[in-house]
Amino acid sequence: MAQKKSILTAYPDYEVVIGIEVHVQLTTKSKIFCSCKNTPEAEPNSNICQICTGQPGVLPVLNEQVIAYAVQAALATNSAITPLSFFDRKHYFYPDLPKGYQITQQYLPICEHGHVPIRLEDGSTKNIRLRRIHIEEDAGKNTHVKGSGESLVDLNRAGTPLLEVVTEPDIRSADQARAYLKMLRAIVQYLGICTGNMQEGAFRADTNISVRKKGTSELGTKCELKNINSFKYIADAIEHEIERQILLVASGKQVKQETRLWDNKQKITIPMRSKEEAADYRYFRDPDLPGIQITNDYIATIKNRMPELPYEKFDRYISSFGLSAYEADIIVEDLERAKYFEKAYALRPSKNIVNWFLRDVLGYTNEHNIFLKDFLITPEKLVSIITLLENGTVNNSGARIIFDTIAQNGGNPVTVVQEKGLQQVDSSDQLEEIAERIVKANPDVVANYKAGKDKLFGFFVGQMMKETGGKGNPHTIQTILKKLLDS
Ligand code: ADP
Ligand code: MG
Ligand code: ZN
Repeated sequence: MAQKKSILTAYPDYEVVIGIEVHVQLTTKSKIFCSCKNTPEAEPNSNICQICTGQPGVLPVLNEQVIAYAVQAALATNSAITPLSFFDRKHYFYPDLPKGYQITQQYLPICEHGHVPIRLEDGSTKNIRLRRIHIEEDAGKNTHVKGSGESLVDLNRAGTPLLEVVTEPDIRSADQARAYLKMLRAIVQYLGICTGNMQEGAFRADTNISVRKKGTSELGTKCELKNINSFKYIADAIEHEIERQILLVASGKQVKQETRLWDNKQKITIPMRSKEEAADYRYFRDPDLPGIQITNDYIATIKNRMPELPYEKFDRYISSFGLSAYEADIIVEDLERAKYFEKAYALRPSKNIVNWFLRDVLGYTNEHNIFLKDFLITPEKLVSIITLLENGTVNNSGARIIFDTIAQNGGNPVTVVQEKGLQQVDSSDQLEEIAERIVKANPDVVANYKAGKDKLFGFFVGQMMKETGGKGNPHTIQTILKKLLDS
């Protein structure tokens, strides 16, 4: 993808260091420590109970599904699973956290030391190391009502399960950050443990950024960019922050450690708060919850349920389907895309399926903001259009008309061919007759063509297409014209 040049090209002595923390909202049926439904988007405060609202005298009970999901994430990222991990309390006071502490895993996370492979621009693969993945509960949601001075608290989200995935500071550019987030999102989506919907906050990334002179091993002072909820803005936001820091450091000033927000209107990052120290949270092990013991048998059961992962699909598309890395990258990025593409490709394994899917199906659905699952051209219909094209019933422009017609109004490709009279004219007799007529009617053009103006060949092709109402078989037309004009 063409991106604007990074500030780093103007400051070749500096490098950027990025580490990312992602909160992955898990799609379990119920919350993590109670049996309330895990549907944060429901009517405010409709899914709450004594446990998730932090009433005195209640005890949390761990939802096994959360552990299964965490182990899946661990396996998908090649992480080391901790045989016995624990929950800790992280204390802070905020109206959306009625207990006064969040249950998380500070000291012994469920897994550590994994990695996520990303593809670099030069085609090579880089493993972004994961420091840890831990389980925690989410807090509720405060809404500050504009103008009224009132704040509303919705606790539907309180006690819903999250995985926090934390990288080592291995990322070296905005593009790498984006590639990492796309791969991680695809992984959790393929596992079926998270919707991956960033707008709804189901996949939230905090990006830690610092800069330093190349060749130094010490890390520079970092700023944390909070919750950018769209891939469109992530690269912009990071690039802007890199620029701000390099200009500071290069002019001898210092970066202040703080949390910053991306303002998408002004296209700048703005300070939000200076960073708390870990000690502020007064972490200690939660005495209400037993340790989580994970046996090899349990891991083996989960292993059996693992689906094909995006990086595995990527390799298969290249080795078995002959796709380019660029093509495979776009398709595996999203599970719905991969499902649609594989269905169509299995029915008709042709390059036209790849091309029409990438250019036309993705082009149309992106432009019109349609989910692939709601697209009127199903994989079967795409196959039928490509079959009509490849067996010569219609030419390319005919296929395009069928595509647009069905994309807009639905319908059956074969019926559209009949209704719109799109059958390709490829009878040689008929085309020869037309060609002779055109050649006779344009002696000057013929003379110029024969005198060496090769480009005029296109004029005759154009006339033929006009005469056949765009339905002439281009290949037959070329052959006939060549014979007629070059003899
Ligand atoms: P905090 O306690 O402030 O959350 P951590 O040490 O837990 O900081 O790291 C959080 C994330 O920030 C990790 O992904 C880590 O890789 C990254 N990180 C830590 N220090 C830096 C730094 N100086 N520059 C860039 N990223 C960093
Ligand atoms: Mg942090
Ligand atoms: Zn509850």
